Amino acid sequence: MKPRQRKIIDGHIHFPHFTHQNSLISILRGAGIDNLAVVCTPDEQRLSLVPDALHLKGHYPDQVFVFGGLDISPLLITPEIAGEVFAHYVDVLMGLGVDGIKMIEGKAEIRKRLPIPDFDAPVYAPYWAKLANDQIPLIFHVNDPEEFWDPDKVPAWAREMGWYYGDGTYIDNETQYRQVLNVLDRHPDLRVTFAHFFFLSAQLDRLGTYLDRYPNMHVDLTPGIEMYTNFSADPQKTRDFFLQYQDRIIYGTDIGARALLTDHTAGIEPEESLARIEVVRGFLENEGPFKLTHAGFLFGGPETTFHGIGLPDDVLDKIYYQNFERFAGQTPHPLNPEAIVEECERLETLIKAMGAFQPGMAGDVSSVTAVKSCFSR
Ligand SMILES: [Zn+2]
Repeated sequence: MKPRQRKIIDGHIHFPHFTHQNSLISILRGAGIDNLAVVCTPDEQRLSLVPDALHLKGHYPDQVFVFGGLDISPLLITPEIAGEVFAHYVDVLMGLGVDGIKMIEGKAEIRKRLPIPDFDAPVYAPYWAKLANDQIPLIFHVNDPEEFWDPDKVPAWAREMGWYYGDGTYIDNETQYRQVLNVLDRHPDLRVTFAHFFFLSAQLDRLGTYLDRYPNMHVDLTPGIEMYTNFSADPQKTRDFFLQYQDRIIYGTDIGARALLTDHTAGIEPEESLARIEVVRGFLENEGPFKLTHAGFLFGGPETTFHGIGLPDDVLDKIYYQNFERFAGQTPHPLNPEAIVEECERLETLIKAMGAFQPGMAGDVSSVTAVKSCFSR
C-alpha cells in the first residue's frame, strides 16, 4: 500500500556538518517530507553544531526548526555557576533564531564523558526556571534502553558503540529518572519532549502516569529500535496507549544520527534514513505484521517482524505535525544574521582557547568560520 501524501514534520534530525545540506534535503524530498527540526548536540572538536544547523535553516527558513544545544564550556570553565550561564545562553540561542533547546546530556555515555551535575542539583536551578518561565521548548534525551545496563541483555551493536553501562562507572537510569522527575515536580509546566519515548516503551503504564501528571510533557517516536520491538509485543495495548495520548506523541526519526556518531564525511545516507522512516511510519500506518525493506544503522538484524497499529488519519495528523506545531510553533522563528555572526566569532575564539586549555578538546574552527562568512554577506 502506498501511503497517501501527508504533511509531516520530522521532529528529530541530526545535522552534523553544514555541507550535508543536499544529501539531507534530497532524502527528505524523496520521502515526501518538507519540514524538519534539527536537534544540536555538543561536539568535542567544534564545541557546538548550532552554526551548521543555522546554516541549513538559512537556506530553508520556512521549513527548518532548530533546537540549539548548550555550549558545554561552562561545565569545564565555571562549573559552580554553569546553570546561570546556561540560563543566559538560552537567551543568546533564542536571539539567533533557534526554536528551542536540545539536550543530550542525559545519555549515560555523555554524563560519563563530561562533568555534568545532577539535573536536580541547585547549580542547574536557574536554567530550568528560565526554560519553564519562558516556555521554551526543550527536546531532552534522558537515559537509553534499559537493557544497556544489563550485561545479559545489552545488544552486541550497543556494546560496540560503547553503550554498555552495567560496569558501575555510569549513572544508573533510575537515578536519572528521579532527578528529571524532581525537576518536573518543581516545574510541572516545563515544555519538554523526551526523545525516544523517554525509554519507557516497555513500561507504558508508568509513562502514562507521567504524561497525566505533567501537562506539557511529550515523547517522540525516534528509534531506538527496541521501542518498536517493545510496541510490537502487545499491539492492542500499544494502540490503546497511542489513542489515549494522541496529543502528546511527536514523529521523529534520528536521520543523520549515523553521520553524527560515526564518520560524517560520507554525508547523510539514503538507505539508512529510509529505514528510519519505514519503521516509524510502518508502525503507525500498517495494520498487522511488517518487515523492513531498508537496512538501518543500530537496527540489529533485518529479520525482525514489527507490528503496525494502523492509526486513524486524524490521529496520524496529530503525530505527524500538529503536536509538534503546538509544542514548538507553527512556523520556524526568523533568523538574526548579525547575532549569528557574533556568536560564530565568540565560538571561534572559545574553540581556540579550549583547544589550549583542555588538550584533546576543541580546536576545529573550520565549520564555524565557513558558516560565519555565509551569514556576513
Ligand atoms: Zn537523536
